[in-house]
Amino acid sequence: MGAPHESAARGYEPVIGLEVHCQLLTRSKIFCSCSTAFGAPPNSQVCPVCLGHPGVLPVLNRRAVELAVVLGLALGSKIREVSVFARKNYFYPDLPKGYQISQYDLPLCDGGSLQIGTGDARRTIGITRLHLEEDAGKMKHAEDGSGRSLVDLNRCGVPLIEIVTEPDLRTPEEAHDFLERLKQLVQYIGVCDGNMEGGSLRCDANVSVRPRGSEALGTKTEIKNLNSFRNVQRALEHEIRRQIAVLESAGRVEGATLLWDATRDRLQVMRTKEEAHDYRYFPEPDLLPLVLAEEWIAAIRGMVPELPEARRARFVREYALPEYDAGVLTATRELAGFYEAAARRSGDAKLASNWVMTELLGAVKGDTERLRNLPLTPERLGDLLALITSGAISGKIAKAVFEEMAVSGGEPGAIIEACGLSQIVDPDAIRALIAEVLAANAPQVVDYLAGHERVLPHFIGQVMKASRGRANPELTNRLLREALEARRE
Ligand code: ADP
Ligand code: ZN
Ligand code: MG
Repeated sequence: MGAPHESAARGYEPVIGLEVHCQLLTRSKIFCSCSTAFGAPPNSQVCPVCLGHPGVLPVLNRRAVELAVVLGLALGSKIREVSVFARKNYFYPDLPKGYQISQYDLPLCDGGSLQIGTGDARRTIGITRLHLEEDAGKMKHAEDGSGRSLVDLNRCGVPLIEIVTEPDLRTPEEAHDFLERLKQLVQYIGVCDGNMEGGSLRCDANVSVRPRGSEALGTKTEIKNLNSFRNVQRALEHEIRRQIAVLESAGRVEGATLLWDATRDRLQVMRTKEEAHDYRYFPEPDLLPLVLAEEWIAAIRGMVPELPEARRARFVREYALPEYDAGVLTATRELAGFYEAAARRSGDAKLASNWVMTELLGAVKGDTERLRNLPLTPERLGDLLALITSGAISGKIAKAVFEEMAVSGGEPGAIIEACGLSQIVDPDAIRALIAEVLAANAPQVVDYLAGHERVLPHFIGQVMKASRGRANPELTNRLLREALEARRE
């Protein structure tokens, strides 16, 4: 982007709203008992209901409603006691019924919000609504030049929740941050696996620009085919630049649906406003309105776990952790749970935080899902840390023990015993090591006696080396000074 363009861009404010689809973690589909398991052979998980044969009737999956309500409550939405399913009619080969069962004017949840940013830059993004719907199948376009396409209907009828935001986001980075937070939330509360590349989290982005200071919204375009958070951000950057250029040249932005082409790094027009679909929504005649009793909603409220934001604040309060630590440790539910168990057991919350953030995250290469398969338990890590606090082992030895524990899951006391790693606290043993070191470093001893205290660390290093890191550092320091002073006489 050249300099003149940049100054023009400063005169405009982007406005962004997202529509996010999350695949709910149910075992069966939303209106039939077919499996939702991913990766089965094409068209092996279908039945007359999800294929839309004439005369069949859908039956609503209770678990899908529960998960949707959990998410609604976590976002602070109002749960509607009576919501209505509606038919959204359109033709496409991945939709054998010719319509999708969704919700329209009476969605399951209204309103709500999600926080983005941190510290002073924290912002609240409004949620317009959440509704339940079924997924469509998946087209596979042959790449052999034949122009043929195949369709896999296993995904037909998989339960989705659609989350629509208010046009509250202002930059592509904010849109990215929103998606990160939403993904964290849905994973935390266990309603969706949050895998965008695998298609269980999908997003369409709506964007317009307006002169800075103006209240009125500009004409928006909608971007589809965004299969990663990075692509959402890239596509928005492109589209914002394009819209500003149109306005700068006194043109008008046309309402349109655009497709992001990630391989060519560009947008293409899918359809213009004139070609927009009329879905002819009407209430689904085969399903009764969904009526949720107040007590049922209250019971679901009890199933919502502590949310990441609340947990982060509690970690700062309860364990006196820095904000930074609390943010890292509450990134996923697995990590936060591991940390809390280790901290309680060790009795030193800050030490536990340091170890979990560096050693533990290092051992799983930053992927907290791997914690599930790690042989090391949080209790054993806590025990190891308690050994450092009590002075039984040094931090350096503890690292070696940790490495072993991460592989074998062994008990720290047993590993220390087996490897002969316990700290040397016997003064006579340390004195013997000091005597050896001083004998081997006669010139430095002369330096010390001439008043050059700076050689002390050198001696301590040598004693540590001779003890393979096992000598107690404080004791070594004291005995070393004694031994040196004794040579003055
Ligand atoms: P549509 O009628 O095209 O479905 P909606 O009003 O339902 O549009 O909004 C869909 C999404 O687009 C929402 O996330 C909303 O916040 C966002 N949106 C609506 N108007 C604008 C606008 N002028 N600029 C940017 N985003 C917008
Ligand atoms: Zn089915
Ligand atoms: Mg709409």
